[in-house]
Amino acid sequence: MLDILFTKSADLVSGPLRDVGVKDGKITYIANHSGAVPESREICCLDGKLLLPGLVEPHIHLDKALLLERMAEDVTELRQAIEVTSYLKQSFTAEDIYERAMRIIKQAVSKGITHMRCHAEIDPVIGLTSMEAMVALRQQLKGILDIQVVAFPQDGLFQDKRMPILMKEAVALGADVIGGITYMDADLSGHLELVFGLARQYGLPVDLHVDFSDNPHQLAIQDVIQATRKYGMQGKVSVGHLTSLGAAERGDAERIASALAEAGIHVISLPLTDLYLNGRGDHKGDYRGLTPISLLLKHGVNVIYGSNNVQNAFTPFGTTDPLDVGLLLAQTSHLGSARDARQLIHMATAGAAAALGLSGYGIRIGSDADLVVCSAKDARSLLYERPERERVYKKGRLVSQTDVIQQNWLSLETVGS
Ligand SMILES: [Zn+2]
Repeated sequence: MLDILFTKSADLVSGPLRDVGVKDGKITYIANHSGAVPESREICCLDGKLLLPGLVEPHIHLDKALLLERMAEDVTELRQAIEVTSYLKQSFTAEDIYERAMRIIKQAVSKGITHMRCHAEIDPVIGLTSMEAMVALRQQLKGILDIQVVAFPQDGLFQDKRMPILMKEAVALGADVIGGITYMDADLSGHLELVFGLARQYGLPVDLHVDFSDNPHQLAIQDVIQATRKYGMQGKVSVGHLTSLGAAERGDAERIASALAEAGIHVISLPLTDLYLNGRGDHKGDYRGLTPISLLLKHGVNVIYGSNNVQNAFTPFGTTDPLDVGLLLAQTSHLGSARDARQLIHMATAGAAAALGLSGYGIRIGSDADLVVCSAKDARSLLYERPERERVYKKGRLVSQTDVIQQNWLSLETVGS
């Protein structure tokens, strides 16, 4: 006997409607819809609505979200955003971080996010407070949202001699990923040695903030590719931003994209932040400060996207909805075809799941029943209309429900008459 059976569900390939069954939190039954359905405790008829795998947020900063009201001035440059946030961080407490993070998480779950990778700031002022808050949230939200915590040295690893020790303590607290940042320390090779060395020592993946500028010559990504090869970490390294590659000479960008694909490095575009802080100078063409999405895709790189920040000095925008970010990329990266729309949905689901190294992901027999129900006739309508996520399931458990009742003047007239 199944726990839940979703009947008449649609997917984005527009094949026949399917029935999908869940038992003990796993998908155990998938078949084209027919009159004969297996026994189930609960039957949920979707009548042609989409059944998607859970959405994956691969890069978010929960600890510095929702700070706009505390900022004395607006910010328009990366350095300024880092300085303002460093100042605000001095008054962060565990309760404050937890409260803001939880507000974001509630919103994210209602948008269909079932997995999230968040960066916890580590520096001598905040110490491990953020790390502790994220680890507590990860534990508390088990069964609702899977969280990976990145130990993230936002201000660099060599600004203070306590940093290498703090990073090791973060791993001892339970960091899932070793973070790094290529543009804060003068000694790039020392920075990468430390990050990749820790990753090797503890058997963890790496996730770096890389080349976040409009400068076509800031290409630390080449050193990251080398380090990935040297440490044998192909497939286990992700990089966020990589915007200077979008400003680089086309030939250089092509060569680097090919090397990225060969090294299995996942590239995470963060357009809410990148479009806001980059591309303000005098640039050729329509350069807007993003990593070159189409060029990377052409070379077979797993390019995905994330929210990065929600309403703070780096990014005054954000709703946590991955589909909002996907639409923004569609509009700014010339990704307007039906095929592009399918690609953008893939990036927010299976592509991001691959970057996070998730096992048991997707709608297939034996996978976790992390599922989202919404109404859209195809990938374009899903992306362009971003319908309410009517039901969100984590391992078969209903974790969010949104009722959609719309009445317009026509139906209201009918009701009134
Ligand atoms: Zn970030």
